[in-house]
Amino acid sequence: MNTINTFTSFTTSNCYVVQPDPQIDICYVIDLPPDVEPAIEYIKDRNLSVGGYLLTHGHYDHALGAPKVDGNIYLNMDDEFLARNPQEQLSQFTNEELLIEEYKGPLLNIETFDNEVIKVYKNPGHTKGSISYEFVEIGVVFTGDFVFSQGIGRTDLFSGSYEEMKDSVNNVFLSFDKGLEVFPGHGDSDTVSNILNYNDYLKEFIDD
Ligand SMILES: [Zn+2]
Repeated sequence: MNTINTFTSFTTSNCYVVQPDPQIDICYVIDLPPDVEPAIEYIKDRNLSVGGYLLTHGHYDHALGAPKVDGNIYLNMDDEFLARNPQEQLSQFTNEELLIEEYKGPLLNIETFDNEVIKVYKNPGHTKGSISYEFVEIGVVFTGDFVFSQGIGRTDLFSGSYEEMKDSVNNVFLSFDKGLEVFPGHGDSDTVSNILNYNDYLKEFIDD
């Protein structure tokens, strides 16, 4: 199998199943979109165990699949409110009568995630609790809606902040190794160095 398998949701968000070591049957799942079933099937078919469901942030297109999985779901607790209350976010985007229940299952604090292969970065801006996950051994980082290959996350939604995004770009994104491959919450992957060269939206946030 590939180390990283991408499952793109109808909402356009990406769910990633990552198996850092092909010799070891443990995978990690980055984000839980509402239609997370294909990723769950994939994991079942290969008898993988899940070392953790890791949310990049609490928006519904990344977290609404939470009730569909068994196991430990981690996030930055600053986004717990968002992950548990999708209704409010959805009403900003749709006028349809769509009722989504509040998620009452367990959500674990990312600070309690004890793991040696994954580095966790807090990068508020898109939401207060946005985080990135770097798999050091395989040279990849999952950035959620922090930085995309050709854009940057919105900062005008609830708990977003332009100033915090600026800090996160300068202190977190610029600290990433240039050779790392960035796997964002929407769209295709690219290297940190390409993104720094070609992503004009990102450049606007970089201090001179
Ligand atoms: Zn988002």
